[in-house]
Amino acid sequence: MLDLRRYVRDIPDYPKPGILFRDITPMLATPMLATPDALATATEALAKPFLDAKVDIVAAAEARGFIFAAPLAIRLGAGFVPIRKPGKLPFDMHSFAYELEYGTDELQIHVDGVKPGQRVLIVDDLLATGGTMEACCRLLEKCDAEIVGCSFLIHLVQLGGKERLNPYPVHTVLDYD
Ligand code: 5GP
Repeated sequence: MLDLRRYVRDIPDYPKPGILFRDITPMLATPMLATPDALATATEALAKPFLDAKVDIVAAAEARGFIFAAPLAIRLGAGFVPIRKPGKLPFDMHSFAYELEYGTDELQIHVDGVKPGQRVLIVDDLLATGGTMEACCRLLEKCDAEIVGCSFLIHLVQLGGKERLNPYPVHTVLDYD
């Protein structure tokens, strides 16, 4: 199989000194009909454990989550529901505020984005502390969704985010120490 790691570019000291940023944009830039196609390979890897999970909806938080969510939704025969930063959604919404290293952030979802009982897979490009995905889970719980799992392309293992997502199944494609 195509080695997806080759398409992740390490950027030292971004966005702040001391942070090693894992840049996924090279994965998006291979032409769709290239062989092999990195984005198609990434989509397949994100979907793999959930092919028979009867997923109704793929949900993702902006912005990089959206990039992988749309092809994943098509692959799974599911719909897509966006989770957004404040001020972006036009209709009634649920909100969830969460702690960052410095300060707080907030995510929102339309109240009718996911119907009660619908089976939802949440996707993001990267799992670090798990704060973003935990907020997504809380929002989907407010919608009474059934969360079938969380799927990530990149997992920064040492930050302990996976434990924070208990009891939901977590699938990660590329693990980095
Ligand atoms: P967490 O909430 O798990 O601490 O951080 C994960 C979120 O921050 C994801 O939505 C992800 O897009 C973004 N993020 C944090 N660090 C990185 C990084 O090194 N590379 C990329 N591509 N995204 C990151």
